[in-house]
Amino acid sequence: MTRTYQLAVIGGDGIGPDVTRAALDGVQAAAEHFGFAVETTGFDLGADAYLRTGVALDEGTTERLRAHDAILLGAVGDPRVTPGVLERGLIVALRVAFRQSVNIRPVRLYPGVTSPVTAVTPDNCDLVIIRENTEGLYTGGGSTTHPGTANAVATQTSITTVQATTEAVEFAFRLAAARRKKLTLCHKTNILTHAGQLWQDVVDEVGARFPDVDRDYVHADAMCQHLPLDPGRFDVVVTDNLFGDIISDLGATVQGGLGLAASANHNPAGTAPSMFEPVHGSAPDIAGTGWANPAAAALSAALCLATLGERDAALALEASAASVLAELPALAGPRMGATTAELGRRIADRVADVD
Ligand code: ATP
Ligand code: MG
Repeated sequence: MTRTYQLAVIGGDGIGPDVTRAALDGVQAAAEHFGFAVETTGFDLGADAYLRTGVALDEGTTERLRAHDAILLGAVGDPRVTPGVLERGLIVALRVAFRQSVNIRPVRLYPGVTSPVTAVTPDNCDLVIIRENTEGLYTGGGSTTHPGTANAVATQTSITTVQATTEAVEFAFRLAAARRKKLTLCHKTNILTHAGQLWQDVVDEVGARFPDVDRDYVHADAMCQHLPLDPGRFDVVVTDNLFGDIISDLGATVQGGLGLAASANHNPAGTAPSMFEPVHGSAPDIAGTGWANPAAAALSAALCLATLGERDAALALEASAASVLAELPALAGPRMGATTAELGRRIADRVADVD
């Protein structure tokens, strides 16, 4: 019997639906070539649904999503909606509900793609950022006293638990052991002493079980220099939620731009579906133009196939997207020379040829 995967698809807002559709062309082509089936169910979530219903995500929808093997997400965010409502009410809510405690962010410069940072070459840029995905400053606790006055004081709580930190760190060590055997902790232990000590303790404890993986530590601020100037120093970087968010965008620039940066919100225990999304947002400035690069979405879909256990299909989809990228005269906008949909078809057409 054919292996069949149930994929929930949230196109979302702005360029999200277009890049997701293009990525799905590649997924279906890979499924056909490698002999498995992917059944998709679309979910109408994002700004329009929120403006219609006043709810970003309800329990029934969460449970229907939970019944799938994986979730593909385009992007959510819309100028008509208060910033944070959809990001928190939908994306962060799903990460928490499905215990997607690990965010996986490969940073790789594909041959033929030019990085805006001259020190970065395909030979020195192949690393993965592992970001704790549910805690830190993202837990949302806090308060403001005397808001809107000259005496206003805002408090924002950051929570770090051994449990979630260990999940991220264990995942990072396992990945490093399967790669170039080097793990770098990125934090700010000299200032965030409580959280920093907890992270360092967990890295030391888990690291003792991975004696062949070298350990390194870099402050988050120093990382903003080292990552662009010497990416070859890094194999797997493990870091907390906020630092991970920031250095992931830096990583996107290093690897050629937001149109190329993929991510996975991963449930390491396998108790609920993982969710795969490009790092970019809804890009309202280019929504509807057809000039969004679907590569980040296609590369995220490749991470999805890898997580489902379809490794050959994942590698073929990644290689296909990379080979299409290598031919583009520009990585975004009309100078790409092809629309989002055309690039999706090109990636799909090539999946069978690159393995
Ligand atoms: P959001 O609030 O949803 O995150 P944003 O305003 O932050 O949206 P992003 O989507 O993060 O916008 O995009 C930042 C910039 O990068 C925009 O100028 C956008 O046009 C560009 N960009 C993002 N994704 C792509 C893509 N796939 N192809 C081309 N350009 C992109
Ligand atoms: Mg954004």
